[in-house]
Amino acid sequence: MRDHVNRVVLIGTGFVGSSYAFAMLNQGVSEEFVMIDLNKEKSEGDAMDLNHGLPFAPAATKIWFGDYSDCKDADIVVISAGANQKPGETRLDLVEKNTAIFKGIVEQVMASGFDGIFVVATNPVDILTYVTWKFSGLPKERVIGSGTILDTARFRYLLGDYFAVDPRNVHAYIIGEHGDTELPVWSHADIGGLPISAWAKTKKDFRQEDLDELFINVRDAAYQIIQRKGATYYGIAMGLVRLTKAILQNENSVLTVSAYLENKYGQEDLFIGVPAVVNRSGIREVVELSLSPEEQEKFKHSAEVLKNIIKSSFHK
Ligand code: NAD
Repeated sequence: MRDHVNRVVLIGTGFVGSSYAFAMLNQGVSEEFVMIDLNKEKSEGDAMDLNHGLPFAPAATKIWFGDYSDCKDADIVVISAGANQKPGETRLDLVEKNTAIFKGIVEQVMASGFDGIFVVATNPVDILTYVTWKFSGLPKERVIGSGTILDTARFRYLLGDYFAVDPRNVHAYIIGEHGDTELPVWSHADIGGLPISAWAKTKKDFRQEDLDELFINVRDAAYQIIQRKGATYYGIAMGLVRLTKAILQNENSVLTVSAYLENKYGQEDLFIGVPAVVNRSGIREVVELSLSPEEQEKFKHSAEVLKNIIKSSFHK
């Protein structure tokens, strides 16, 4: 019977986690949803509050405040626990704090007998996805970071806004570190099958600087939001639901997630944001785009920044 019941366990019910829980409930994605947090009161309160929304939900979901033993039967464990960026802090500043938190969390999840898929959202997400893979001992395909899923969404939204087209018809990726060294893949960006360069010709007042600025707004979006309201959470929460659906519904969707690279993009032994096909088994495959020489250089730099951190944290 259990085979037919999808269970998602969320660890870390702060801004990101509770927004994800709310979005999951509203989209009726899993039959069971368990919430775990160090702050039991808050998590318990959230579970109660969400349960009261069930009469208005599109599908039945059993939601409860749980503990690590609930991970045993989970299909997916999503981690959004840990410290978030304070104003002026980069994502990479959080490495030490969150690695220590993750050791405790991942060990407890694995001790339950968990044998599903990890989804990691905590920053710096590419490093903490690597940390989760190492601490869990699970196959690399079953450890997925949210990577540049949000950055790609921001990019698509801003491009759609600029050319006045629905962002769902914009196909353009941000790849690399979810952070300051990420890059836009302009060489493969299109809207409705037409390359961005063709759209540019149709726009009377088009300026190349507008696109350069647009990417800077994508890259620095978190800083801009944190400065205004202290944290970012709705966008990533919806991105995490999209990823959860791709897994549970075996969608084979292409999403820019943090995936393990092995001889792809000229890199190996790191998790980094790249397009990948996601299904019920996790990451089916990484999609290797033919990047322009400039994009290749930028991607290499981004990978090196991440690898240096992995080296100093793991291979001392
Ligand atoms: P938050 O402080 O609101 O929530 C963090 C939660 O983790 C808290 O409820 C806290 O009690 C819990 N926690 C801490 N240690 C724990 C432990 N050992 N076990 C269980 N729970 C524990 O922070 P937030 O704003 O929700 O951000 C969470 C993380 O998500 C941050 O690292 C943030 O940078 C990251 N984030 C990622 C993206 C992305 O695109 N990947 C976007 C936004 C935020």
